[in-house]
Amino acid sequence: MVKIDRNPVPPPSLEVEKQKSNGLYNKADVIQQLKEDSHDKCYICELGGLSDPEVEHLRPHHGRKIAERVFDWNNLFYVCPHCNNLKKEAKYDDKIIDCCVDDPEEMLEQCYENGHVKVHNIVNEECAIMTAELIQESFEKCNTGIREAACQYRIDRLAESMSILYKILENHKKNPDSKRYMKSLRFALSRQSAFAAFKRGYIRKHIVDYPDLEEFLA
Ligand SMILES: [Zn+2]
Repeated sequence: MVKIDRNPVPPPSLEVEKQKSNGLYNKADVIQQLKEDSHDKCYICELGGLSDPEVEHLRPHHGRKIAERVFDWNNLFYVCPHCNNLKKEAKYDDKIIDCCVDDPEEMLEQCYENGHVKVHNIVNEECAIMTAELIQESFEKCNTGIREAACQYRIDRLAESMSILYKILENHKKNPDSKRYMKSLRFALSRQSAFAAFKRGYIRKHIVDYPDLEEFLA
């Protein structure tokens, strides 16, 4: 999970739909703006290029019982169905980091090592602890066949992303003056790239080897 800059202007359909008894919070303009602001990634697992995105309410509305949350633009997030489903558990209610307000990278450490994902809180706050647990589950909670497949898919995509990063880093070490590799690294380490938290976490952990890349973590 990385910080997201949300467009402050709510998509127009939200105000219109809010007036209806069974209005929709996921019309095309909402999806489009969320997709753009989230760089087409699930805000929880950071899988990119979602073919089946959903709109998630960060603070749950409990079957529209908390009406003001349903159409609140600041409460809507771009998510994959797998993570949306995992987050439905009551233990996460009102306990997930609002990554449009707070910077999750200052609260969590996300690592990928030897085929495994490790997410830890680095601040002692309930939302950091619970968000770390949710992200961990999005890669490793295999209690059903569907979830096992979804987790494996995310681990495989993450492994691919990391191995591309390692390759560019290797080339960069051999050719430190090459602008081409710096350009690739700038993109790979930007918040908009898929699994950015893991890639940025890797560089942060090995910053002694890559002091010249610190500027890309800003
Ligand atoms: Zn996801």
